[in-house]
Amino acid sequence: MNPLAVPVIATWQGGRTERVPLCPACGASERRQQARDVFDHLDPAGRDLWAFWRCDACSSLYPDPRPSSDSIGEAYRSYYTHTAETGPGSLRGARAQLMALVTGYMNWRFDAHATPSNRLGVLLFCAFEPLRLKLDYHGRHLFLARQAKHRRVLDVGSGNGEFLRRASELGWSATGLDPDPDAVSACVAQGLVAFQGFIGAKGGLPEGLFDVISLRHSIEHVPDMRSDLEHCLRRLEPGGMIWLAWPNPRGLGARVFRSAWRGLEAPRHLCVPSAEAMETMLEEVGFVNVRSLRRGHHARSIARESARIASQRPGLANRARALVAPIVGWHADLAATFFARAGEELVTVAFASDGTNDRA
Ligand SMILES: [Zn+2]
Repeated sequence: MNPLAVPVIATWQGGRTERVPLCPACGASERRQQARDVFDHLDPAGRDLWAFWRCDACSSLYPDPRPSSDSIGEAYRSYYTHTAETGPGSLRGARAQLMALVTGYMNWRFDAHATPSNRLGVLLFCAFEPLRLKLDYHGRHLFLARQAKHRRVLDVGSGNGEFLRRASELGWSATGLDPDPDAVSACVAQGLVAFQGFIGAKGGLPEGLFDVISLRHSIEHVPDMRSDLEHCLRRLEPGGMIWLAWPNPRGLGARVFRSAWRGLEAPRHLCVPSAEAMETMLEEVGFVNVRSLRRGHHARSIARESARIASQRPGLANRARALVAPIVGWHADLAATFFARAGEELVTVAFASDGTNDRA
């Protein structure tokens, strides 16, 4: 039994919360409190203070209680995923030359034919590992889907369509899926293919299988991750790849910033799984060749945002957190180059079995 009482949130939508007695990632009940006064950073004046727990068994973080399924929509009222991108426009001079080098590398790495490109980019970025890994992340490691016959990628949580455009530039046929109708409309207005809905819901997404399904910062928003992963597996071609990125609950940021850590995103993040928990879940669901990749992104921006949240809170500890944020960001950014689980963001890939790609 955990001796810490769970604070009852009577302030959230008239108490429309639900209890989460078991870890959503692994089902264990033993846990310790990570933070008990986490507010919605989009509503710092709000009265709702959420409690987050760290699972003793798998180190995932999750809120208990959390918004009930009939009230979670309220948490997204001010949460925009459809802010229009201004686009690169016409680049000139040094910026244009740099972009040509980037495109040269991306063409080589992703077997694409975008222009203008400069093949010297291959030499340049292969010589600088951190930059190379960042570019590989930028293309969501699509090159790892070696069995992709039709190059069809589904982006779950496609937001403003940024990745749909990038995937198209890399020669992929990209489809977006997002619960936000405004985000979908914004994509369609740009000529992109996107549908409104959830991966597990009927309707919305047309029938058909994909070579890659990517979920960038969306799996931690869903109430039943395991069910969503199962639905993804069903929509993958044999040998197809799932690509996931989400905040690292065991990173330096979560430990330093505690209740101010940007990765908690209360009350929209319903479980922030550890790398180990996600890898286990993927294998249990039926994926094969599960592995985490180096160089997640966003270490410095998560540190910067966490510092902003800490500075909105009283107390000396929060002032100290805001002060050390740049060190945390740089440290996590550097460490992510060497260790897959050391950054502020985790990236994991796994594959649908085709009968030959299972581990011996
Ligand atoms: Zn757990």
